[in-house]
Amino acid sequence: MNFNIAVIAGDGIGPEITTEARRVLDAVGARFGHTFNYNEVLAGGCAIDAVGTCLPDETVEACKASDAVLLAAIGGWKWDTLPGDQRPEQALLGLRKELGLFSNLRPAILFEELKDACPLRPELIAGGLDLLVVRELTGGIYFGEKGYRDTEDMGKAAYDVEEYSEGEVRRIAQVAFDMARKRGSKLTSVDKANVLESSRLWRKVVEEVAASYPDVELNHLYIDNAAMQLVCAPQQFDVIVTNNIFGDILSDEASMITGSIGMLPSASLRGDNFGMYEPVHGSAPDIAGEDKANPMAMILSAAMMLRYTFGLEEEAAAIEGAVKTVLSKGYRTADLYRESCEGQEGQESQEQILIGTAKAGQLIAEEIG
Ligand code: NAD
Repeated sequence: MNFNIAVIAGDGIGPEITTEARRVLDAVGARFGHTFNYNEVLAGGCAIDAVGTCLPDETVEACKASDAVLLAAIGGWKWDTLPGDQRPEQALLGLRKELGLFSNLRPAILFEELKDACPLRPELIAGGLDLLVVRELTGGIYFGEKGYRDTEDMGKAAYDVEEYSEGEVRRIAQVAFDMARKRGSKLTSVDKANVLESSRLWRKVVEEVAASYPDVELNHLYIDNAAMQLVCAPQQFDVIVTNNIFGDILSDEASMITGSIGMLPSASLRGDNFGMYEPVHGSAPDIAGEDKANPMAMILSAAMMLRYTFGLEEEAAAIEGAVKTVLSKGYRTADLYRESCEGQEGQESQEQILIGTAKAGQLIAEEIG
């Protein structure tokens, strides 16, 4: 089959890791008889430099015309002094809004091979970790009204409004319940209903949706408690659903439990098959161009694209299996190598082989065969 993918390599380590994701996808194409056509488009800092805006119209059009979007990361020090509304990261919000991507799926899986890179005590993660954060992506405080006003005696004040409609909560809750049904049938909704009106509406709507999913066990946690539970009893979680800002923070916390942010993929979906797939990490400007970046989150994002947009389950599993095999052979990019060594004081450890970005992509592609 033929698939058209818009590729946004973006800034920092983006070009390096998308090269490896394409290499792995091409290996999948060769083995399973598919053709992946890549349309490289600009967004982020590189787009500001090239055409003066972080999200050119042609990029939005190319993404809309594609079957799926693969995005690495955008942003970097070079553009950090630009005013907020002109920064490269605005392209991310613009893409999510333009493409209608209201749900963000962020699986956090602790690979058996990387358990010594997990900062939690071994007894907390015995038997592994496998949870999914479903984050609302196009509403809440990131998209609400924002601005400045003068106060009487405290100088200037800035505000950002957190607002959710029933419809926005209902559709993300349905995605989360559907996901829970396909996994461990347990859903935790995270809010701050003891303080925030928007959270009280959130909780009410989630409970309404729950009536259609009697087979899924639902519980509610306040965000502060959820952040705590995630590090003291992470195995209680199956699927977590939460708003935009809480999801942003909780999913980064979940990512560290898995050992490195360089391992975590994500999918942003809109209710049909279309999606945008990107690693959870940023553009890592501190290691850009040095062949040090871990490309696995990007490669695993490509696997999610095969599964959720193209319906290619076997091909997605082949990528995930290849990543596991490469790790089980002891290969580690610098992020995993360093953290593993730090976490293993006094323990026997498998011999590790330090590899760069390109080698990691090559080994994973070779495992696919
Ligand atoms: P970051 O995720 O880029 O980097 C945080 C740390 O993790 C750095 O030490 C980095 O070297 C390391 N790291 C990240 N990805 C890695 C990988 N694949 N392999 C090895 N190490 C990796 O976060 P940051 O430093 O806060 O942000 C840098 C830039 O990225 C900023 O401009 C930020 O706005 C942007 N950003 C973009 C996205 C996105 O495009 N979706 C997400 C987050 C941050």
